[in-house]
Amino acid sequence: MMSRKNITNLIKVMVVVIIMMLLMFVYSFTLNLEDNTQEIENKLDSVFENVEPNMAYVELYTIYGNHLNTNGYILKENIPDMTVSDIDLILKEDDGQVYEYDLQYTDQEDRYEFLLSDNINEGIDLNNIINGDYIVFVRVEEIQQENTVEKYFSIDNLSEYTQNEYYTLTDNNTNYKINIGFNTYTKDDYNIDYMGITSQYCVLPQSVVDIVIDPGHGGRDCGAIYENYEEADFTLEYSQALKEKLESLGFKVALTRDKDVYTESYGENGRAVIPYSTKAKLVLSIHLNSTATLPVAGGVEIYAPNNANLTFAKSLADNIVNYVPTRYSSNGENRVMDGVYVRTYTQEDIEDAREYAQYMGYDMYENITTQTPYLFMIRETGGIMTGAYVDGRNTSMEENPYYNSNMSAEAYLIELGFINSDDDLNTLINNKDAYINAIVDSIVNNYGL
Ligand SMILES: [Zn+2]
Repeated sequence: MMSRKNITNLIKVMVVVIIMMLLMFVYSFTLNLEDNTQEIENKLDSVFENVEPNMAYVELYTIYGNHLNTNGYILKENIPDMTVSDIDLILKEDDGQVYEYDLQYTDQEDRYEFLLSDNINEGIDLNNIINGDYIVFVRVEEIQQENTVEKYFSIDNLSEYTQNEYYTLTDNNTNYKINIGFNTYTKDDYNIDYMGITSQYCVLPQSVVDIVIDPGHGGRDCGAIYENYEEADFTLEYSQALKEKLESLGFKVALTRDKDVYTESYGENGRAVIPYSTKAKLVLSIHLNSTATLPVAGGVEIYAPNNANLTFAKSLADNIVNYVPTRYSSNGENRVMDGVYVRTYTQEDIEDAREYAQYMGYDMYENITTQTPYLFMIRETGGIMTGAYVDGRNTSMEENPYYNSNMSAEAYLIELGFINSDDDLNTLINNKDAYINAIVDSIVNNYGL
């Protein structure tokens, strides 16, 4: 028999042993963490190896649709002896992958100003940035006889934005989550601020979609009317068919309305808010045209943002006239190409808007210029660069909580045809599938899926 004292001693020993084992476990875990941190630091050391101690500066960066765009400058005092022959934006992964993008630049008195693109749908296609941690650099080149001298500058952030979260378009049920932000790397005694892009495989959150389809009008706003046909019915029927077809190809799609209801512009489920809250890359607003006076123009019109590369808009117009027995609209106002239209505020539009604001008793939005898109869905879902401007100063309407966002969609408005043209009306009633196929093929071709 063991004495009570022996049992107590045994328990004491066991407790001590258990505590020691726990401590060893915690210690080995900490060692492991240190190993990992050390490994990441070593990788960053190699990425930052030849980086200049001075900075390039980003004044604005934006994400529209699928593209990251940025502009900024580099001070000449940081490259006093260089005759610059090229400036590029470089994405360097810690595992060695490198992407290069040509920057447009202008030679100013004390600086070189650079820009990826004037167009919201150009720049860095984020769908190509698959898996990895990337540091963004500005590379300045000078050609000396046969040699190219290169200098790498890390990027400091002068914009008011600090962090963005983007999800790539759904491709084969696969998505990547991309974080764009700023961080600091410590090298010897000094700190280097840098812009970083990380991309990792993810399960798409329920709230995120690829494309928003906006069936124009609805409820008490029935849109254009001809005989006993209403625009709002066509736009809903076509939008639902478009959603179904796109979903059958694997895209995630949301509608701004799915029944015959009036849709508010702003607020939680507002027409202009859904594209932001769902992080949609593409917005297509579906409408029918109508003319107040005869003759009716007839045909298709695609409205695009004024600061977009028009390849996609043109392909929508071309596909529709190729697939459907219809034609490009003969309306010449705001037309930039056959079937493609860009409409911004005219000085007269601005005066009218000012008068209307006065009449309604609210302040005119001062940031409307002749560069602001005129059509609501293009303007309001296009963020700061296309001039979204509902900033809550007018208490008579709800605000768009995303009005100052640097992240938004590429938005287009499709006028399928004229409801008060008998030809167009007949075509619209009898060729829905052809219209849908035309639009879907254009999306698939232009977004590379
Ligand atoms: Zn309409």
